[in-house]
Amino acid sequence: MATPAADSRSNRAAVQATNDDASASKLSCVKKGYMKDDYIHLFVRRPVRRSPIINRGYFARWAAFRKLLYQFLDCEGSNSEKCNIKKQILSLGAGFDTTYFQLQDEGKAPYLYVELDFKEVTSKKASIIESSSQLRDKIGATASISRENGEVLSDHYKLLPVDLRDIPKLDDVLYLSNMDPSLPTFIIAECVLIYLNPDSSCSIVGWASKIFSTSIFFLYEQIHPDDAFGKQMIRNLESRGCALLGLYATPTLQTKEKLFIDQGWQKAVAWDMLKVYRKFVDANERRRIERLELFDEFEEWHMMQEHYCVAYGINDTMGLYGKFGFKDEEEHASETSLSASQSP
Ligand code: SAH
Repeated sequence: MATPAADSRSNRAAVQATNDDASASKLSCVKKGYMKDDYIHLFVRRPVRRSPIINRGYFARWAAFRKLLYQFLDCEGSNSEKCNIKKQILSLGAGFDTTYFQLQDEGKAPYLYVELDFKEVTSKKASIIESSSQLRDKIGATASISRENGEVLSDHYKLLPVDLRDIPKLDDVLYLSNMDPSLPTFIIAECVLIYLNPDSSCSIVGWASKIFSTSIFFLYEQIHPDDAFGKQMIRNLESRGCALLGLYATPTLQTKEKLFIDQGWQKAVAWDMLKVYRKFVDANERRRIERLELFDEFEEWHMMQEHYCVAYGINDTMGLYGKFGFKDEEEHASETSLSASQSP
């Protein structure tokens, strides 16, 4: 568990409020045409217009996440026959994320989608789901929704409260949610672990590796705390009570990869968002969104993107993920990808 001192710098309510910020930013992007999300407006009380650079940053994050998620959902192993393996998604610190509802619309929802967050957040989300027929329709008529318990339980979607730092409780929640550890599983940790102390983050990453033998652990968070931009980024968040407690333990791409390998993952890859945007996000999509708003903050944009990364760990007992991941450039394969046998 986090120490009281750490907790006072990374305050529970302030960290929860970053979810409201993320939701408002997503809505800002949707309104400008960066991406489609027919549900996020239901979760935002006070819509705001974000600056072009913030919109573009959220778009890059969303596009990278989506592309990797679709790769996972489409993975069928080396056997070219469609084998229809059931799949699961586990979202840690899901906040008001609406991916499940969107995947339902797209006909791509997995067999089971489980979202976890602090009870304060899951209660609000449960209450919003309860009061919206648009959302209720997506989880099915037999769902049970409890605002008091912060729970939504349906056949294919579960929302449950837990403090992620409490690993024994995570086991309980997994059991409650009916997740099957042997099924292919995509674990999402988007701007979550970085607020926890490093011991907690390691425990969560290690816990997931031990449980899910065929899985992807997707991480999106900050890097490079030590240069001028990084220091300012930390000051901004600390002034709001959100210390990036995990950042000093994994300040670089290499240390993010090492976190996964040290915690038992078979393979790990980390790219900064500048590279992700240039080389992984679809060029057509990039061209489309770059026309949406006047944009001249190129220097700031580059710096900002260098301070965020996507990292993922892969466990592949079933042999499904041979083609999963960032485009397999030679340079990348030889230089930046760590596998368990190479761990320093
Ligand atoms: N992943 C979402 C929300 C990010 S905001 C997105 O990208 O849009 C961070 C979320 O993590 C918040 O909802 C916060 O409540 C949750 N969180 C942070 N620490 C947590 C913890 N120890 N246990 C459970 N949830 C936590």
